[in-house]
Amino acid sequence: MSTIQEARCVERLVQGQDTKDGAGVRLTRVLSHDLQERLDPFLMLDAFGSDNPGDYIAGFPNHPHRGFETVTYMIAGRMRHKDSGGHEGLLQNGGVQWMTAGRGLTHSEMPEQEEGVMEGFQLWLNLPAKNKLCEPWYRDIQSEEIPEVTTAAGVLVRVIAGQSHGTEGAMQREHTEPLYLDLHFPATDSVVFEQHLPATHNAFVYVYRGGLDVVHGDNATGVPIKRMAVLTNGGDGLVLRAQANTRAIVMAGKPLNEPIAQYGPFVMNTREELVQAVDDFRAGLMG
Ligand code: MN
Repeated sequence: MSTIQEARCVERLVQGQDTKDGAGVRLTRVLSHDLQERLDPFLMLDAFGSDNPGDYIAGFPNHPHRGFETVTYMIAGRMRHKDSGGHEGLLQNGGVQWMTAGRGLTHSEMPEQEEGVMEGFQLWLNLPAKNKLCEPWYRDIQSEEIPEVTTAAGVLVRVIAGQSHGTEGAMQREHTEPLYLDLHFPATDSVVFEQHLPATHNAFVYVYRGGLDVVHGDNATGVPIKRMAVLTNGGDGLVLRAQANTRAIVMAGKPLNEPIAQYGPFVMNTREELVQAVDDFRAGLMG
C-alpha cells in the first residue's frame, strides 16, 4: 500500500555527455547547462567513474569558484582538497565534501591514489542572490557521519541532505532545501522505494548501478543505468521499483527562481556580476 497519493512521472530521460574537465579528468556531465533552469537550484552534476588512472590522475588543480556550493560525494577512491584559506582535507570512500564558495576561493581537488577505482559525483548547488558573496565555508563529512536508514522494504538510504523516512540528513540548507539521497536497493528484484516531495521542488533520479522504474499509478517508466530521469512537478512524491542491487541518486530542491548567469566556475545573477568576478579573481581577491 503506497503512502504516495499522486506520484511523479518521468518528464524526460537524459543521457550524460562524456567530457573532460580539470587537467583532463574524464567524466560524464549528467546535468548540463541546458537543464539549469528546469532543475533550479541545481546547476550541474558530474559523474566520474573509472578504474583507469589515466582517466582521473591529473585531477583538478587550482581553480576558483564564486556564487554557489559544490557537493562532492566519493563512492570509491580518495581525493585531497586544499583551498586558499589554508584548509585541507581528504575525501574518502562514502564521504562528502560540502563547500560553499560564496564570494570566492581557489582550491584544488586531486586524486590521492595511483591505481584502482575512482567513482563519485560532483553537484553544483546554487545560492540565493543575497548569499552569493557570503564567507566561504566547507565541511568534510566522513562516511560514518552520513545518516542511514533502512526502509521496511529493505532499501538502505544514505541521507546526505534533507530528510527521508524520518531520518535527518547530514546537511540542511534553508533557501534551496536540497534533498540528496543515495539509495542502495537489496539483492531482490522489484523492491519499492517511496519518498515524499513538495510539489514545487524540482527533482531527478540518476541510476549508477542496475536499473529501475519510476512508478505512477498503473504505469511505469524504465530508467536504465547511467540515465537521469527528470521528474514532473506536482503530486506528493515519487515511487521507484528497482532491479536487484540497484543504486541510484535522488535529488530534489526548492527553485530559487532567480536569473542564472554562468561563466565557467562563477555563477551569479547578471553579466555585470560575472565581469566583477573575473576582475576580482585576476586581482587576487579569491586567494
Ligand atoms: Mn572545484
